[in-house]
Amino acid sequence: MLSLTDVSVAYDDVPAVRHVSLDLPDGEVLAVLGPSGCGKSTLLRAVAGLEPLTGGGIAFDGSPVDHLPTHRRGFALMFQDGQLFGHMTVARNVGYALRLRRKPSAARVRELLALVGLEGYDDRLPATLSGGERQRVALARALAVEPRLLLLDEPLSALDASLRERLAVDLRAILRAAGTTALMVTHDHEEAFTVADRLAVMRAGEVVQSGPIGAVWAAPADEATALFLGYARVLVGVPARRLLAAARLPDAPSVALRRSALVAGEGDLVGTVVSARATPELVRLVVTVDGMGELDAVAPPGSHVAPGEPVRLRVDPTRVATIT
Ligand code: ADP
Repeated sequence: MLSLTDVSVAYDDVPAVRHVSLDLPDGEVLAVLGPSGCGKSTLLRAVAGLEPLTGGGIAFDGSPVDHLPTHRRGFALMFQDGQLFGHMTVARNVGYALRLRRKPSAARVRELLALVGLEGYDDRLPATLSGGERQRVALARALAVEPRLLLLDEPLSALDASLRERLAVDLRAILRAAGTTALMVTHDHEEAFTVADRLAVMRAGEVVQSGPIGAVWAAPADEATALFLGYARVLVGVPARRLLAAARLPDAPSVALRRSALVAGEGDLVGTVVSARATPELVRLVVTVDGMGELDAVAPPGSHVAPGEPVRLRVDPTRVATIT
């Protein structure tokens, strides 16, 4: 288990990461999500041992790693652009760390190429590969020595949107199949949602919310977090009161409704499903509700709701925030 306790990092006395505490259990993938400049890459670099801490500590399986140089931490790093060796074949790239450790193994290289869906690519040079294939090779190379922690810095952001989506699904499957514990930094909430088990949302150097991804998504800590997670809007004032009335809930002088306040099932609101996205923990829905436009909702895991289907919704009153 990776444990960060009160970790702070500064550049020339200007704080970039402030008092971050996080735990990452073995075999899970944690996405650190936040806008550009929030400090997420600095946090990842600190875990890797590439930035000194100005406060706090980092431990793995209970042992501090702060004093260890990068190559002694047992962690592997994968960057946005893969950084493959251009003059080496795919197989030699993947086997690089094995050779460094004097444990070359053609069988292990074949196994890794199969894991990332690149059987038969052994003799290709990086320049002949697509962007997605290059990232798969980079992933296979990073996994070669079975790192106890894989650090991924925006691993898919150099790819175009449709490829990014597909590779995100594959990345999740590959990390699960390898049983890898991973910390991934991203600014893309869809990518985080697809790949990770746990989420830490960062803003201005601080972690504002963390937990299992379904729990964070279903109940964002505040409006800014909700919007950053991809909620199209947070209803306030009159629209929120209209929704309360439609749901037969007591009126309030001023309310903000996060869109996930809607729960699919039995209720007084009727809507039509626009899109549905399932994870093991919940189903994320976008629903059109008459007179209110598109709203987000959540449904219990395993719910079968498809675009175009009518759905009944209720407002979860515990998620109604009163503005003071
Ligand atoms: P993110 O990864 O979320 O985009 P970074 O961790 O790269 O954010 O940066 C966080 C803050 O630290 C930013 O204000 C950035 O300008 C600053 N920063 C990052 N790297 C350096 C550096 N090497 N020297 C000085 N300031 C830096």
